[in-house]
Amino acid sequence: MKLGRRQALKVIAATGAMAAGSVAPASAARARREPPPDALGMLYDTTKCIGCKACVVACTEANHLEVDTSWSDGLYQAPLDLNGKTKNVIKLYREGPYQSYVKAQCMHCVDPACTSACMLGSLKKDPVTGIVTYDQRYCVGCRYCMMACPFNVTKFEYHKVAPNIVKCELCRHRFAEATLAETNGFSRFPANHGPACCEVCPREAVIYGKRSELLAEAKRRLAEHPDRYVPKIYGEDDAGGTQVLYLSHVPFEKIGLPDFGPRGVPHTAYTVQEGLYQGFVAPVALYGALAFVMWRNRKKGGQPADAAAGKGEAS
Ligand code: SF4
Ligand code: SF4
Ligand code: SF4
Repeated sequence: MKLGRRQALKVIAATGAMAAGSVAPASAARARREPPPDALGMLYDTTKCIGCKACVVACTEANHLEVDTSWSDGLYQAPLDLNGKTKNVIKLYREGPYQSYVKAQCMHCVDPACTSACMLGSLKKDPVTGIVTYDQRYCVGCRYCMMACPFNVTKFEYHKVAPNIVKCELCRHRFAEATLAETNGFSRFPANHGPACCEVCPREAVIYGKRSELLAEAKRRLAEHPDRYVPKIYGEDDAGGTQVLYLSHVPFEKIGLPDFGPRGVPHTAYTVQEGLYQGFVAPVALYGALAFVMWRNRKKGGQPADAAAGKGEAS
C-alpha cells in the first residue's frame, strides 16, 4: 500500500496538531517515568564478550540490512559504528589499562528522547514491551531524533533515494506471532523468534528477557562477583533508565556509556522543544512542507511505503 494523498494530508494535519501540542509551559515539570511491568530488554556483560561479532552478522541478516563493507575494501563486514546499514555494532575500547569490547544498539530508553523529538509519531514507545519502535510511514526525514538521542543511536539511510531512520527495534518482527514462556528464569520466545543477536551469541554475553528478570540477574552477578565488575548496572537509572542494561569490568565512560545522571534526557529535549516551538506556526509550515515532499518523493520513487513498516522487514 502506498501512502495516499489522503494519508499524506492526514500526516500534514497531524503534524500541525502535534507541533501545537508540543508547546508546553516553561514551568511544566516532567515526572520520572517507569518501564512497563512486562518491559523487554537485553543484558550485555563485557566480561563475557569475546568480540566475535556473530551478533553483528546475525543482526544484519535478521533485519535484511545491506552488509556494510565500506571499511574493509569491500571484503568483509566491518562497520566502525552504527550507521544507515548497521543496527548493532561491537567496538573495542582500549585506553591505557582499560580494554573491553562493547556492544552498541538502541538502549530502548524508559523515557526516550527520540520519541519526544519526533513530532509525527514515527518513533513510539510500545506500552506493553517498552520497545521503541519506528514506523517509516510517518517519517519525513527531519532527523530531529538523531539530534535528540543521547546515545547517538538513530541513523539515516543517506545512501538511499527514499531514506529511513535505522535503529534496533529488538527484532520485534521476529516475535510478532510468538509467545513468551519462562525458560530457566527468563521469559523467552521459541528458538529463532527472539532478538537475533542474543540467540547467536556463543558466550551469552548478551541475553534477553523481561527487564525485571535481567535486572535481578545483573544484581545476582554483581553480588556473586564483586571483584569482577564496576559496582553498578548501567541503565538501571541512567538517563532515566534503559531497557538495555550493561555490566562492565571497566568504567562505563570508557566504553561509551556516559554518566547522564538519573534524569530522563527528554527533559533536555523538552526544553529545546519549548525554545524551538514558542512560535509554533513556523514548525507547522516546515513539517507540512516536509511531509508533502516526502510523500511526493515516495510516489515518484515507487517505493511501497508499507514495505518495511513492521511487516516482516527491518526491526
Ligand atoms: S556474539 Fe556475543 S561474544 Fe560475540 S561479539 Fe556479540 S556479544 Fe560479543
Ligand atoms: S537510545 Fe536513542 S534511539 Fe534508542 S530509545 Fe533511547 S533516545 Fe531513542
Ligand atoms: S535485537 Fe535485533 S535489531 Fe536489535 S541489535 Fe539485536 S539483532 Fe539487531
